[in-house]
Amino acid sequence: MLTTPAYAAADANSPLAPHTIERRDPRAGEVLIDILYCGVCHSDIHQARDEWGGSIFPMVPGHEIVGRVAQVGEGVERFKPGNAVGVGCFVDSCRSCAQCEAGEEQYCTKGMVATYNGRERDTGAPTHGGYSTRITVKQEYVLRIPEALPLDRAAPLLCAGITTYSPLKHYGVKAGDRVAVVGLGGLGHMAVKLASALGAEVTVLSTSESKREAALQLGARDFAATRDPATFKQLANRFDFIVDTVSGEHDYNAYLSLLTVDGTMILLGIPEAPAPVAAGMLIMRRRKLVGSLIGGIRETQEMLDFCAEHGVASDIELIDIADINEAYERMIAGDVRYRFVIDMGSLKAEA
Ligand code: NAP
Ligand code: ZN
Ligand code: ZN
Repeated sequence: MLTTPAYAAADANSPLAPHTIERRDPRAGEVLIDILYCGVCHSDIHQARDEWGGSIFPMVPGHEIVGRVAQVGEGVERFKPGNAVGVGCFVDSCRSCAQCEAGEEQYCTKGMVATYNGRERDTGAPTHGGYSTRITVKQEYVLRIPEALPLDRAAPLLCAGITTYSPLKHYGVKAGDRVAVVGLGGLGHMAVKLASALGAEVTVLSTSESKREAALQLGARDFAATRDPATFKQLANRFDFIVDTVSGEHDYNAYLSLLTVDGTMILLGIPEAPAPVAAGMLIMRRRKLVGSLIGGIRETQEMLDFCAEHGVASDIELIDIADINEAYERMIAGDVRYRFVIDMGSLKAEA
């Protein structure tokens, strides 16, 4: 076993603090990764604070992992020591159900094994994520990071990137479509970049007037402040798609009213509490309200290659692991441009 420094939440009410976990030496078909960077997703906060229920503690969050292969187990041919690799939101699935066979392991009927806050299929042992210096993962769940991508700015692609790319592709967003992105955080800024790269006309809908300039620089054509009620009158019935990345409570009906006939609102954000939807909001213009969960391994690799080809990467603020609790508070306040990424060198230095 490999004794490994990490940061963990001891329970739902404690800040993250230094902690030690054991990683296993790579077995046949497994890859040991030296973690260099890990993005900070709002899902880390929801789960570390048990906002969705059922959290397993102590919890080492982190599912936007980028690093280099340190060692490979027997029979691993896809990867060699030194390769730049990534790990996203899950590290295992049944590999035999229809969803797994279709490459959509996130919808595995037996349940995917989450990178953290999950349980290993064979042993039931809790899984631990990327706020640590190394991780051992089955090669089928490891992604290649294309050389053109800077490693720190690639980390958020493993969750924020694929979570926004997958529904844009699945629902067929194309050049000229009017797409609104609600919430300009980690997911939101990737949605702006990716939808723009697909040729869509993107409008950012944000509670933070201060993000106007930056939204336009990210590739949006327009910006509207959602704290101003006039916005909802001006933009009524306008959009073909709305990508909702909001982490906190908000009124779905207000945003649905901005969809045109047959328009689709894609829920990505997972607020703690359920929220009511008025049937008339969907019925009167045959609108669709849908959701989407991350993306499969094949599509994640496709997204990474797309980003390398189109020069897309996350805009990040690199932090030391010791700053993680402050980063959580800033994310909750909407104060992140646009993803915190932990430099894991800072954890190695602490250990
Ligand atoms: P984030 O970086 O914190 O961004 C969320 C943004 O939403 C904020 O920056 C803010 O943007 C806006 N916002 C927050 N609270 C709001 C409220 N009460 N009303 C209106 N706007 C609000 O979070 P993230 O990492 O992008 O994650 C966003 C959500 O997606 C989280 O719930 C996360 O768990 C979920 N998620 C889902 C999936 C999936 O597979 N579906 C994958 C990853 C994450 P403005 O300042 O622009 O208003
Ligand atoms: Zn995430
Ligand atoms: Zn399966």
